[in-house]
Amino acid sequence: MPNNKLEALKKYFGYDSFRPQQSEIIDTIMANRDCMVLMPTGGGKSVCFQIPAVLRDGLTVVVSPLIALMKDQVEALRGNGITAAFLNSTISGTEQDQIMWKIKLGELKLLYIAPERLFAGNTFDLLREWNVQLFAIDESHCISSWGHDFRPEYRQLNLLKQRFPDVPIVALTATADRVTRRDILKQLNIEHAETFISSFDRPNLSLNVLPGRKRIEQIQRFINKHEDQPGIIYCLSRKGTETVAASLQKAGLRVAYYHAGMTGDKRSQVQENFLRDDIQVIVATIAFGMGIDKSNVRWVIHYNLPSNVESFYQEIGRAGRDGANADTVLFYSYLDIITRQDMINNSDQSAEQKELLHAKLNRMKQYAEADICRRRILLNYFNEPVDHDCGNCDVCRNPRTRFDATIIAQKALSGIARTEQKVAMGMLVDILRGSRNRNIIQHGYERLPTFGVGHELRSDEWSEYLSQMLNSGVMDIAYDEAHSFKLNAVSWQVLKGEKQIELVKFIPLSERKAKEE
Ligand code: ADP
Ligand code: ZN
Repeated sequence: MPNNKLEALKKYFGYDSFRPQQSEIIDTIMANRDCMVLMPTGGGKSVCFQIPAVLRDGLTVVVSPLIALMKDQVEALRGNGITAAFLNSTISGTEQDQIMWKIKLGELKLLYIAPERLFAGNTFDLLREWNVQLFAIDESHCISSWGHDFRPEYRQLNLLKQRFPDVPIVALTATADRVTRRDILKQLNIEHAETFISSFDRPNLSLNVLPGRKRIEQIQRFINKHEDQPGIIYCLSRKGTETVAASLQKAGLRVAYYHAGMTGDKRSQVQENFLRDDIQVIVATIAFGMGIDKSNVRWVIHYNLPSNVESFYQEIGRAGRDGANADTVLFYSYLDIITRQDMINNSDQSAEQKELLHAKLNRMKQYAEADICRRRILLNYFNEPVDHDCGNCDVCRNPRTRFDATIIAQKALSGIARTEQKVAMGMLVDILRGSRNRNIIQHGYERLPTFGVGHELRSDEWSEYLSQMLNSGVMDIAYDEAHSFKLNAVSWQVLKGEKQIELVKFIPLSERKAKEE
């Protein structure tokens, strides 16, 4: 057995030095003190409890909700010469007996277990007979209803400290804002735990938001610029992954889709093909990526808006793990927000929980609509204030300017009024620009006084400005009436000349400074 942590790092993991904070965290645990570890995905959290697990006598119990990953994690440990096992619903009775036997003999260093399994049957009582030296609570934000992935079965973990006051607890997570963090400590009864927060900054990731129009065409152009570089496209729905993958396949790209509705075999096959670079692009739901250790993912695209900043950050974090430059793109339109709002409203969550989900979605919206450095917004979200712009996001490369857009707004709003608030984005843009298409003629809209009053702006400019107006509450949208625009109190103030409107100057995609290669 190695004598110290550095020897253990070399012997079992093959690394020569610790990453920032790993060493201090290990020391804290070895001194039997509780602690909390906040590190971004891929930061190296596991080593922090695996090394104390091998250096000391007794069993380390790792609580994790990710049943699907336990097998891989345990196999990786065994491959490194560390005795480990997992207990979850996929384990047979005989296997379970063998594991229990090994624990009794003191032959097992790490046991991975799902919380529901820990509190099922007599397992929790058995813990007393085992020589448990450390509890590691992975994904510990699941214990907090303030987090983005609350799991009620995690709540029972508050029993650990009560029953085992002398066994240290290490809580680990990649995603917790200040409120969630405090709640984790409270729920685990380790309020005095030392907290280690690594920087969440990933300067090698470029951050970009693109208008959510013609997404497939934009993606094709993007992939052409990233020839043969592996990347992930995240979609909201399973169906979405399949249609996006099909369109890209048609364009001759090496693409596969991945979602939880596929058989386990099919999923591992796709994953394997991606790891081996046999396919370039995975189009996936959020089911993809947990625990996938592919360090050379060069880009991540969000086809749809994620539901919160934590998830978004975790997903883009799968790019550029090797430290080399990688690009991230988020497509955004007001319809994405509406879709997400609907999902929350129609979910069976409590009113309180819905409010929280809306608040979290709102932070995501702020990121997407930002006209200041996007990295500052992200890092601020994780309570890591920064005092300089990053230079590696689309806003930094294309500084935004605001301008008085009252007249533009008045034109749009009077267009909405004249059409009796029955038109949606596409039709309104055509009216403002004076496009004489069949739909327009059918409704007689070419005879409106507002027809063509906005011909000086291109249609992508109008779409952008209408979205901005919507996002800042200058008008409303009725998504139960074919997304038609509706006037509200602010609209009337603008129409009457009682209120000025500022918008952010639109920069056409063709004129935006792309990343220097
Ligand atoms: P997390 O759980 O924080 O997402 P992991 O513990 O899975 O991250 O570690 C991510 C990757 O970094 C793994 O491949 C791991 O082997 C590697 N790693 C961890 N610690 C070190 C280190 N000190 N030096 C080099 N690589 C490390
Ligand atoms: Zn920036």
